[in-house]
Amino acid sequence: MANRNFHLTIGGISGGGRYLLDISNKKENIHIGELMASILGGVLGGVIPDYLDPPTSPNHRALAHSVSLGGGLIYKIDYIFKFIDDLDIPCFIKCFLKSFIVGYLSHLVVDSRTTKSLPLLM
Ligand SMILES: [Zn+2]
Repeated sequence: MANRNFHLTIGGISGGGRYLLDISNKKENIHIGELMASILGGVLGGVIPDYLDPPTSPNHRALAHSVSLGGGLIYKIDYIFKFIDDLDIPCFIKCFLKSFIVGYLSHLVVDSRTTKSLPLLM
């Protein structure tokens, strides 16, 4: 079973990777503040599902860990990212928010690989 540190690490890698892929596609230079914000967003997104559904029992996974929520995020990710890009906020916050979502999804992917997997809804 994946522990908090594993989720933290995978979330940070996912968030930072999302940023690097994004700037690579846009052919932009790395901004260290945006990269740090992306890694932080990925780390926080990578651990938040276990705060929303605290691991107090083997069957703790509920809505925050659900296939429905993860699938919905993946289905609407382009819309969500465009919405974030259109917000009138600094770029590093946009990077944080987008990587938070990717970190969150990384948590669901890791948990889906365990024997308990993910619930469909609750
Ligand atoms: Zn979890």
